[in-house]
Amino acid sequence: MQHSNCSTTSCELLLCALRFLRDFPPAKSVTSTVCENLPQVPSEQQTLSVGPPLLQKEEYHTHLAVLYLEEVLQQRAAAGGQGSEPSETQTKLRRLLQKSDLYRVHFLIERIQGAGLPMESAILHGKLGEHGKALHILVHELGDFSAAEDYCLWSSEGQDAPCRRHLFHMLLAMYLHAGPAAHELTVAAVDLLNRHATEFDATQVLQLLPGSWSVQLLCPFLTGAMRDSIHARRTTQVAVGLARSENLIYTYNKMKLKGSAIWLSDQKLCQLCQNPFGEPVFVRYPNGGLVHTHCATNRHTTPSSPSPGTRT
Ligand SMILES: [Zn+2]
Repeated sequence: MQHSNCSTTSCELLLCALRFLRDFPPAKSVTSTVCENLPQVPSEQQTLSVGPPLLQKEEYHTHLAVLYLEEVLQQRAAAGGQGSEPSETQTKLRRLLQKSDLYRVHFLIERIQGAGLPMESAILHGKLGEHGKALHILVHELGDFSAAEDYCLWSSEGQDAPCRRHLFHMLLAMYLHAGPAAHELTVAAVDLLNRHATEFDATQVLQLLPGSWSVQLLCPFLTGAMRDSIHARRTTQVAVGLARSENLIYTYNKMKLKGSAIWLSDQKLCQLCQNPFGEPVFVRYPNGGLVHTHCATNRHTTPSSPSPGTRT
């Protein structure tokens, strides 16, 4: 990859191609004509979507991120540090960094260093699993609490509930760790709890909170946690009830099968090996078929052997 040698002209050309491909994606013949003459960089939409495997390549994702990054840096240089709102390209860069898992994170972290892009830096650290570092940037460098909350949500997308819970607890601990002097962070902690009550383990939270906090302050959190806990209890009760009734059905079937006597004589042969029974120990299948215990065990370890029915 030659990102660092990418000249301005070729970058502009690629961005034009990028926009063209994005704006006119269905015209296959046009796309192929463009691709013959230009380096093959897919549009962001094409790259991020579950598209052809051809586009799910590390080099495209890294290249696209570098192109966005270069344009963002150019825009910032032109604006002379004015305007804190992210430009359209910067928003696209952030979205790409968040959604894609294919680009080279370490390479982009190096490129971004010293560029004054803390939000992008936080996203990249998050991609490396350095959540503490990422949240620290968002909370202490940027002071953007809603971005920190968003971070917990998007970076745990597709993961299990404990992973998301871990991130929210990490953020809460960061707010509370600052102590009561950091009033802004205390307010952020209360808001976080009240807004995302279901993401927290209420028992753990109550142990962390300062004793001076009023119950009224945390009313939405406590109500949410209570509702969640009651819901979980009721769902579990339903599941237990269903499991019990299923168990009852199986017990009934078992008793029915055990109820009738089975006669074993010298004339009876094992349905699998066709040999007589030497001992009064056997396996009976629901269809009445009798087999040696060792034959039944062998049949279960060798699936290709003949089947006399389902084992009881
Ligand atoms: Zn047998």
